[in-house]
Amino acid sequence: MFADDTESVLQAAAALVNTEPEASHSGADELSRVEDVAAFYAGRSYSGALARSDEELAAVRGLRTELRRFFTESRDDAAAHVNSVLEDARALPRLVKHDGYDWHLHAVPNDAPFERRILVETAMAVSDLVRADELGRLKECAAEDCTAVLVDLSRNRSKRFCDVGNCGNRTNVSAYRARRALGA
Ligand SMILES: [Zn+2]
Ligand SMILES: [Zn+2]
Repeated sequence: MFADDTESVLQAAAALVNTEPEASHSGADELSRVEDVAAFYAGRSYSGALARSDEELAAVRGLRTELRRFFTESRDDAAAHVNSVLEDARALPRLVKHDGYDWHLHAVPNDAPFERRILVETAMAVSDLVRADELGRLKECAAEDCTAVLVDLSRNRSKRFCDVGNCGNRTNVSAYRARRALGA
């Protein structure tokens, strides 16, 4: 549906936002140590180096609020947001191939700080969704008590619950209990 790198970058952004204590499965901040940044990086398609420093940790932690906006703002706001990110970073799109990934776009050099690479790659991916009028695929979990975000890659745009908690089941069970309580 979308390019592989668009999907993987958006999934990575969602995973990063979902490390926030109010969204995480554990209820703890899951990005509190330098090793947490390294673990996040390791499972993803980013290229370039990590600083593995406290400054980098703080910058990546601080990025989460801005990334969350992509999941909640309107299409027009997202377009303006993408433009401001690309302008601030002086983004210069180039086609690159690395680590077994086929040709895809990068817009900042590999030696740019990790948080800037995450933000600009996310903005580029969001620009794909805005152009295709598919921004609605970036969602907040539909469970009442959950603020995790998700990327809905389902064919019919039907994914409503995050993968963080057990939100789909939990919501079904409480709806079932409510119906039974009413019936009893
Ligand atoms: Zn890449
Ligand atoms: Zn959820």
